[in-house]
Amino acid sequence: MSLQDPDCIFCKIIAGEIPCHKLYEDDHTFAFLDIGPLAKGHCLVIPKDHHATLATMPPELAGKCMETVTRLANAVMASLPGVDAYNVLQNNGEVAGQVVPHVHFHIIPRTEADGLGYRWNAGQLDADDAESLKSAIVDQLTG
Ligand code: AMP
Ligand code: ZN
Repeated sequence: MSLQDPDCIFCKIIAGEIPCHKLYEDDHTFAFLDIGPLAKGHCLVIPKDHHATLATMPPELAGKCMETVTRLANAVMASLPGVDAYNVLQNNGEVAGQVVPHVHFHIIPRTEADGLGYRWNAGQLDADDAESLKSAIVDQLTG
C-alpha cells in the first residue's frame, strides 16, 4: 500500500490533482519538469511513497529512485544539444535547502555559461577528528 500525505504538493502531483509536465512513471517512481528551473531541462524524480526525507525512506526505494535518475538524466542529456554535464541534487531538511518535504532528486543540466557556480568552501580534514568521526559512523552502521 502506498504512503501518501493529503497535504503534500508532490503527492497531489502523483495523484493527478495538480498538473505537471510528466516525464516518466513506473510502479515506484515519478518524474516531471521542475516548475522553477535552475537550467533548461531541470527535472525532479520522486518516490511515489511519501517520505519527507531520506531518513525514513527504505534504501531499496532510494535505489529505485536512482535507477530512474540515471535513465532520465541520460534522456535529458540526449534531448539538449551540446549538454552533457549535470548535477544530481537531493536536499534533506530546511537547513539543507529543502522546501518541499517529499523526497526528490533534482537533475540539473549544466553548461559553462549557466552562471550557477558552486559555493563549496572546502575545509581541511583534521586527522584526529577524522578518526573519532569514522569510529562513530562505523559504530552506527554496524551497531
Ligand atoms: P527543494 O528546495 O529541494 O525542496 O526543491 C523543491 C523544488 O520543487 C523546487 O525546485 C521547485 O521549483 C519545485 N516545485 C515546487 N512545486 C512544484 C510544482 N508544482 N511542479 C514542479 N516543480 C515544483
Ligand atoms: Zn508527498
